[in-house]
Amino acid sequence: MKIQRAAKLGLCFGVRRALALVEALARRRPIAVLGELVHNPILLDRLRRLGVPTVHDPAESPTRVLVGTAHGISQRRILFLRSQGFEVIDAACPRVKRLHQAVAALAAEGFCPVLVGRRGHPEVEAVVEDFDQVEVAADAAEMERLPRRARWGVAAQTTHPRAEAMEAAEALRRRFPEAEVRFVDTTCPATEERQAAGAALAEKSDAMVVVGGSGSNNTRKLAAACARLCPRVFHVEGPEELRREWFRAEDRVGLAAGTSTPMESVHAVEARLRRFAWELERTAARPAGPVVAPARAV
Ligand code: SF4
Repeated sequence: MKIQRAAKLGLCFGVRRALALVEALARRRPIAVLGELVHNPILLDRLRRLGVPTVHDPAESPTRVLVGTAHGISQRRILFLRSQGFEVIDAACPRVKRLHQAVAALAAEGFCPVLVGRRGHPEVEAVVEDFDQVEVAADAAEMERLPRRARWGVAAQTTHPRAEAMEAAEALRRRFPEAEVRFVDTTCPATEERQAAGAALAEKSDAMVVVGGSGSNNTRKLAAACARLCPRVFHVEGPEELRREWFRAEDRVGLAAGTSTPMESVHAVEARLRRFAWELERTAARPAGPVVAPARAV
């Protein structure tokens, strides 16, 4: 079994920046993170060990200093929390801030903003909280339910694939040919690069292992992109989820990871795969059993 890493994988600059900020703050004073700093259990555990709890309700916070997540926090929420006596530190990625600015500019110019992204994701929710008139659509198909407007401004969740966001804008143009539709590219190159590298590797692999939190939007999109090109794709959070029976001795196995996945997870998964490779080589003389699909095969 041959194992190859994607040319680009793992933590992006925005997540590294947020982590560094939280770690530096935690050394000076008690803080809590409001929501998951990133959707990755290993990183959240690392913060817990540093004494930084993740709280979902400010009332549960053991400290009055709250740090927002890399996904951003709405201005409305910041003002509310400050009115309740909290100090709020914004750790949003600059690219997420740029998305907020893009939506604000579209609204200011009279465009009705529509955000292509996943409803319920903190990044999308923060935009929705700040802009009452923003519509959210998961994909091109969801553009069908939007009402008629003279001017639409389309932006996308940063981790959304750019091609899908552009396709959604096109769907809106087809639906309302008389409307002015402006597309502002707010997608993040870090996500795009990992998806391109993952897809390139998936194309020449018999199986792909995609490492990242199960709640991570960009990891799920990465796994879905790989699944379009590779027959067997397994999304795992860590090495303990891997099963040897998913692989065969002759497999070329690709390894990819989302922008919220720390390199220690990638190393640990790769080490376990190498162990499987060694074991499979030793038993290669025996006939291979069937490949078993796991519960979370993509
Ligand atoms: S994926 Fe892009 S937008 Fe999201 S945190 Fe990373 S660098 Fe920022």
